[in-house]
Amino acid sequence: MSASVHVPDPPTGCHADQVPTPARRRTDHPDRNRRPARNPVAAAPGHVASDTAELLRLQRAAGNAVVSSLFAAPASSAALTIQRYKSYEHVEAGAVESFIGPEETAYAVKRDETPASIARAHSIAAAALLERNKAKVKVWAGAGGREIEGFEAGETIAIPTGKLAMVPPSRTAKVSEAQSKVTIHGVTMLYGEAMAMADYYGSYDYFKKADAAQIQALLDLVRKESLTNAIKEEEWEKASGGRYMLLNRKNIGHFAPPDTALVSGPATATGVNHKTEWEKYHKQALELAQKGDRDEALAVNAFGDHFLTDAFASGHLFNKEDLMAKVTDTLKDEKVAKKFALDVATTVWADSGSAALISKYETVETHLFTHPSINSAKRFAAVLEGIKDNADTKDVLPNAIAAAVHDQLNTDGVPVTNARGDAWTVKGDGSLESTGLFVMREAVAQSQVNVINTIGAKTMDLPALYKTVWQFTPSPTSKGQVQIQAVIKNLTEPSNQTTINAVAGITKENLKLVMAKTVELKKLRLSK
Ligand SMILES: [Zn+2]
Repeated sequence: MSASVHVPDPPTGCHADQVPTPARRRTDHPDRNRRPARNPVAAAPGHVASDTAELLRLQRAAGNAVVSSLFAAPASSAALTIQRYKSYEHVEAGAVESFIGPEETAYAVKRDETPASIARAHSIAAAALLERNKAKVKVWAGAGGREIEGFEAGETIAIPTGKLAMVPPSRTAKVSEAQSKVTIHGVTMLYGEAMAMADYYGSYDYFKKADAAQIQALLDLVRKESLTNAIKEEEWEKASGGRYMLLNRKNIGHFAPPDTALVSGPATATGVNHKTEWEKYHKQALELAQKGDRDEALAVNAFGDHFLTDAFASGHLFNKEDLMAKVTDTLKDEKVAKKFALDVATTVWADSGSAALISKYETVETHLFTHPSINSAKRFAAVLEGIKDNADTKDVLPNAIAAAVHDQLNTDGVPVTNARGDAWTVKGDGSLESTGLFVMREAVAQSQVNVINTIGAKTMDLPALYKTVWQFTPSPTSKGQVQIQAVIKNLTEPSNQTTINAVAGITKENLKLVMAKTVELKKLRLSK
């Protein structure tokens, strides 16, 4: 007699919709939008405006109106503060089908136990137990010439639990790019593509209610970025209906929890960070799973896993809210702020191309029957200075500095470890390395497994479930901590030429967009 082979249904069909992830086209990304400024730029002597009153007027009017528009309003905010993983990196992190398998426990067979008794004790079918351990099945002659199947006493066998587990493939083998799909508002996308969407929608609810055509337009850009190369910030801005830039300024939820060892700034106001955001969505997904809504649970979880994967970028290892509070605190000193604005403006002005571009503009409002031109470093400084005291724009400079810290850490890479004992040097957005990607996939796979295993479950242990996933996320080693501390200390010091260069560099790179947007808002215009 041979064992009747009954193959049990695979644990909840997460492999059903698997499709390959677009192959990564770039492993190294020389097209990074910004590079931290390294070499001090000599300042060109600016044309000093003689009319102090006009400067003050500019600062008030331009500062509060022109500059608000320059940097703040959703439609006009410049790409001053882009801090995100490239979309295709989130997409790649979603390729976890080969990291998910049946959950099994090891069991040592005792004397006189039969496959039937072991199966009964574990509430599984005997046939499934025999099938799973068929290499260890022994056949004995029984009474009446019958054959009896069983296991040797002391043999260790695998007991399938009927649930799923994160089962990583070999690190040396080529990993499958297959991943599951989710559907949002009728638009079907890869799990990893849904993960990328949290950069374009501030919340899952907002995402879910978005116009299908807009979701499709963003998805098209995400795919284009995966397949070819860099997408211009203006393209994301357009496809997101003008929300992208603002979201990038309001993205504290994409950065690490507070750590006073890294940023000893004032206490955070909201406490929102990538861990709290991920937990919020994971909880929501698990609750939907309990109710049996598998599809919606996985869609919510995909969106939330964006924040999980953000934890794997070196540029996201610090708490952005604390860092910005620290910068804001420093710039409260009027003298410091004034000098910083002038230093940044002077550095921007030293670039003849930027100066020429800025000089083409004048305010739309008149002053003493003229339209003051932004024709000197000092006048541009007045424009920059005005932004700090405006409620809508006061976060712009701190954001630019956070962006500079983010860029520097991404470029340098930071040595990290995780609770599981993995150690690697984590690189940043646009330069994801293989260990980081592998561990990230383990985390995303575990997150999916948690949701699928919770379908229909009566109870769940949230802290334990969070931990199974968060254990993969990296923390800087002591050497990494020292490195982050040094970068933060360096780049939050307004008198430091590196800081000035970094902010000036970000301003310069976005100057055209800033000016164009401001004209669009009828605040500045090209000089007649
Ligand atoms: Zn993010």
